Amino acid sequence: HGAEANILMQRADVAMYLAKRSGDGYAVYSSDQDPYDVNRVVVQGELRQAVDRGELSVFYQPKVQIATRRLVGFEALVRWQHPRRGWLPPSEFLPLAERTGLIKRLTASVLDIVLKQLAAWQIEGWAVPVAVNLSMRDLLDPRFGQLVKDQLASAGVGHHLLQFEITESTAMSEPERVIQTIAPLQQAGIQFAIDDFGTGYSSLAYLQRLPVREIKIDRSFVGKMAGNAGSASIVQATVELGHRLGLDVVAEGIEDDKTYDLLLKSGCDTGQGYLISRPLPASQFADWLRDGAWIAARESERPAA
Ligand code: C2E
Ligand code: CA
Ligand code: CA
Repeated sequence: HGAEANILMQRADVAMYLAKRSGDGYAVYSSDQDPYDVNRVVVQGELRQAVDRGELSVFYQPKVQIATRRLVGFEALVRWQHPRRGWLPPSEFLPLAERTGLIKRLTASVLDIVLKQLAAWQIEGWAVPVAVNLSMRDLLDPRFGQLVKDQLASAGVGHHLLQFEITESTAMSEPERVIQTIAPLQQAGIQFAIDDFGTGYSSLAYLQRLPVREIKIDRSFVGKMAGNAGSASIVQATVELGHRLGLDVVAEGIEDDKTYDLLLKSGCDTGQGYLISRPLPASQFADWLRDGAWIAARESERPAA
């Protein structure tokens, strides 16, 4: 990892530090983990600027009720249009944001974009809830709940239009603190979902206590259910578990009609995936609805005039 002695020594040092920290006893150098890596420092600076200057974008992916094909909500997915590298998916910059603590500002920035969009849709007579993804650091921040309520108030958006998604592994790593953070928000009318369900280790005792409204079956099971009996069984069992606990169940990653039909038969409530729509900029949903394959939220779901 270096052609000059001093670089090689410095990188060996980084690897040694990583090995000590991980407790594994050994580590291979990776620029990704290197605080001295020039590229990483540059990206970190650029990301901080992008967050501060409001250069992040949000794409929206619709969720539909499987039985009726009606739109029931959107998930907000962050994108970064990098000046040289073009559109970057979250996997290219979220890990860095999480390691450096920048994630809290990123979340606030995404929330700001989403609330403005909700306010604009409200004016057009649309009242479709949007779900924002949260990270561990957001949930461990004791001020998080108040920040969210302040942002909602200044945007003039009803609490029922905002939802949050927390991954199963985040929810289960610090369940007591997560409950503490989300319970007051849930009481204020904001709904929570457990994301990527089935990929972590859920304590069923905590699952029962978490104030959440729905679970989202991870797309690794949904994507394989049409061709793999084991995955289909896991999906079916998860739908039943969710329903027994009084939760709605969402399947993510639906890519074909066969999977959609299987989910319909399994009693799964809600679906999301490329078959329905890829994540798109907000402006494209009027056309998406005009196509007619999926149906707009019903009249009664619109805000009172
Ligand atoms: P996620 O929350 O599980 O989001 C779903 C991901 O699956 C999205 O990837 C979406 O584009 C992709 N997807 C949706 N339908 C399909 C499908 O039918 N097939 C396949 N193969 N993929 C599908 P994306 O946008 O790259 O986001 C990746 C992850 O980054 C998200 O996974 C979420 O954990 C995280 N993320 C995205 N936006 C935010 C954000 O604003 N804040 C935080 N903290 N995390 C975010
Ligand atoms: Ca999600
Ligand atoms: Ca997910």
